[in-house]
Amino acid sequence: MGTVSIRDARKSYGAVEILHGVSLDIADGEFVILVGPSGCGKSTLLRMIAGLEDISGGTISISDRVVNDLAPKQRDIAMVFQSYALYPHKTVAQNMGFSLHLARTPKEEIERRVNDAARILGLESLLDRYPRQLSGGQRQRVAMGRAIVRDPQVFLFDEPLSNLDAKLRVAMRTEIKALHQRLGTTTIYVTHDQIEAMTMADRIVVMHDGIVEQIGSPLELYDEPVNLFVAEFIGSPAMNIVDGRIENGQFSASDGTQIPLGSTRGAAEGQPVKLGVRPEDMFLDDGGIAGSIVTIEPTGSETHVTLTIAGATMSGVFRERIASRPGSDLRVRFNPDRLHLFDAETGMRLTK
Ligand code: ADP
Ligand code: MG
Repeated sequence: MGTVSIRDARKSYGAVEILHGVSLDIADGEFVILVGPSGCGKSTLLRMIAGLEDISGGTISISDRVVNDLAPKQRDIAMVFQSYALYPHKTVAQNMGFSLHLARTPKEEIERRVNDAARILGLESLLDRYPRQLSGGQRQRVAMGRAIVRDPQVFLFDEPLSNLDAKLRVAMRTEIKALHQRLGTTTIYVTHDQIEAMTMADRIVVMHDGIVEQIGSPLELYDEPVNLFVAEFIGSPAMNIVDGRIENGQFSASDGTQIPLGSTRGAAEGQPVKLGVRPEDMFLDDGGIAGSIVTIEPTGSETHVTLTIAGATMSGVFRERIASRPGSDLRVRFNPDRLHLFDAETGMRLTK
């Protein structure tokens, strides 16, 4: 069983607290991603779980055992870093088996586990090569192999794909997800890339400045962000935000544009709010609100348009191909049932 339970975990360096009490329960077999901007404390939290950083406050348990004072190798975890740090003078097989070798595992057992991991990762034909003879993706797979041979209760990944080019990153994303589905090992994965988080995670933990902003499934975070930070962090292009207030049950933008709210509820009459509109919740409509086109980017399958509308600059993603030019008008309508309202002052979600 590989559960992880984090209770009010805190971390200080000297007088500076950088993790302000993080709590999180991870079920056996779950794939959980910690995501947030650079410097928010993701790696620190992961390293505290691994035992590479002291825990300044709170408790961390792995499979119901408090590990605060246990050394890394007593925690039954295996970690994969961004820099794979393979031993250059050891072969792939030796790199993968090295931790078992250190643990004085019998030779046949090491061979069996290395071969199993190599088969899972498609590295069988590369076992005698040296790291310099491998591509970036193959090295990354060896780094994962090193973790797999240990058959730990929990895998910890810290931005393992950051050094790869964009295409390989997408391929490895699929590979890691497939690997998790096959092995079923509890996994905690750190990234600053929200798309990586959205596509891979069972559950996402959004962190910001040493706190957890929201925990949920990818679509929960996308459909019901609890505050403006999560709303703007998850999704690409990002959610559009428009300033205004509620007037006669509608949204009235600061430039006076009236936007119907449909079933979107939760704000009081007269209340200053920020309206959130996902780019794909905008539709072409000759009877809609006029905006002025800033840029048009056809991707082939969709057209991405930046336009000034309702006193704001917004991004729209349309299925249609759009022949208009920058500077000309585009009339659009917003899906009234998929709008998001946030308190203008606190940034907290108002929509029920
Ligand atoms: P992330 O992985 O989310 O980018 P980190 O966990 O690496 O963020 O860092 C969180 C914060 O802790 C940052 O502000 C960083 O400067 C600070 N920090 C990390 N390690 C140390 C350290 N050894 N001493 C002092 N501050 C540190
Ligand atoms: Mg980091």
